[in-house]
Amino acid sequence: MIRPILRYGADVLHQPAEPVRELTGEIAHLIGDMIDTMYAAPGVGLAAPQIGVPLRIFVVDLSIGREADGLIVMINPSFVEQGGMQLEEEGCLSIPDFNATVVRPSRVVVKGLDRGGAEYQREGTGLLARAFQHEMDHLDGTLFVDRLRGIKRDMIVRKIRKLTRAGKW
Ligand SMILES: [Zn+2]
Repeated sequence: MIRPILRYGADVLHQPAEPVRELTGEIAHLIGDMIDTMYAAPGVGLAAPQIGVPLRIFVVDLSIGREADGLIVMINPSFVEQGGMQLEEEGCLSIPDFNATVVRPSRVVVKGLDRGGAEYQREGTGLLARAFQHEMDHLDGTLFVDRLRGIKRDMIVRKIRKLTRAGKW
């Protein structure tokens, strides 16, 4: 089921999410909804807080469903390694129509549980490394705007406030 994606300003997006304690049917259902919502957006990643659930789960698929093995589901993820540096434009389904250049490590290794509850790890470089870090940030209540400094950040936040006041956000 496709769920509404919350936007910058919603409390759940600005707070750390809780670890998943047990892989219940409800969690399996939630993950299904996250995948449906990500593909429908369309987006290359989605974290549970973005659909209002404060749990440490994210889904990533750089192929947006075009490749059979493209989908990555991470439950209770953590970084094993991070290295290098990349500077690329970044956006977020919770901050539509805005993007900015964000500095990120260029390579990461993330470990977590898959949908079956088995622990595994995935290495990501380039865009995949960026997607992993962006989604991990969501689980800590951080949005890409929070990683910007100075004028660029102020400009985006001010525009969002203006849209919110106008009832257009
Ligand atoms: Zn995002």
